[in-house]
Amino acid sequence: MAQIDNLPPLSDVIETHGLAARKSLGQNFLLDLNLTSKIARQAGDLRGSDVLEIGPGPGGLTRGLLAEGARRVLAIEKDTRCIAALDEIASAYPNQLKTINGDALEANPLEHLQAPIKVVANLPYNVGTELLIRWLTPAEWPPFWDSLTLMFQREVAHRIVAKPGDKAYGRLALLAQWRAEPRIVMELPPEAFTPAPKVSSAVVHLTALAEPRFPASGPHLSRVTQAAFGQRRKMLRASLKGIFKDPTAVLESVGIDPTARAEVIGLEQFCALARVLKGN
Ligand code: SAM
Repeated sequence: MAQIDNLPPLSDVIETHGLAARKSLGQNFLLDLNLTSKIARQAGDLRGSDVLEIGPGPGGLTRGLLAEGARRVLAIEKDTRCIAALDEIASAYPNQLKTINGDALEANPLEHLQAPIKVVANLPYNVGTELLIRWLTPAEWPPFWDSLTLMFQREVAHRIVAKPGDKAYGRLALLAQWRAEPRIVMELPPEAFTPAPKVSSAVVHLTALAEPRFPASGPHLSRVTQAAFGQRRKMLRASLKGIFKDPTAVLESVGIDPTARAEVIGLEQFCALARVLKGN
């Protein structure tokens, strides 16, 4: 196995610092530094970019990011036990790694970062989806990040990239594809992690678009997709009753068959519905 730095192997780091994985923190560690470097490379050329990493744990991905040339890494880790291990990485890369010991759902990392910023993370799955939604719905667009490179449960990754007609197609796909370009760039089996989770994982890379793909207001698009997918087996003329007085007329006005179901309707048509809702 090629050496990426002069720090000890991750299995030694875990033993030295007593980092037995905790289920409550969603800890499934990546111990193969070739693999973590490969994940880091999925974020593109890191030289000249600051990287926000959430949940560095014992620092496998952090070391991959630094070895791949990230200008600076800001790592937010909730588990205090990991901080000493991360400090050792910071000593090996002077002035390039800053660690915050806290909850990523509460921290405000932006004061420590300079554009261009890439977000890279192998996160606990529950926190990952919540953060993704936050990163995709900032008050202003373009967001603080140029790209997000995130590990998800494979099934969630497929929901992010799904197209109309796919089983996984729904609100997450529409939200991700409205203002970003998401791609699955790696698939990982459970055995890639220690301990191995029950499910497979995938890395999704999302590039922020300069402008939304189609004009719409975020809150109105969200209301339309919530109504449409809240009752996804219903025809749209029924599921949109709660938000439009005459859904059939509205659907016809934007060229959608009123008997169609949400799962076959594309982003452009949902944006058209969001504009009508806003105009009402
Ligand atoms: N990045 C490491 C790796 O690839 O080996 C660890 C990945 S592990 C799946 C998730 C990490 O996120 C753990 O280190 C865990 O302690 C941390 N974590 C869990 N919830 C967090 C939160 N709300 N904020 C910050 N870190 C969190």
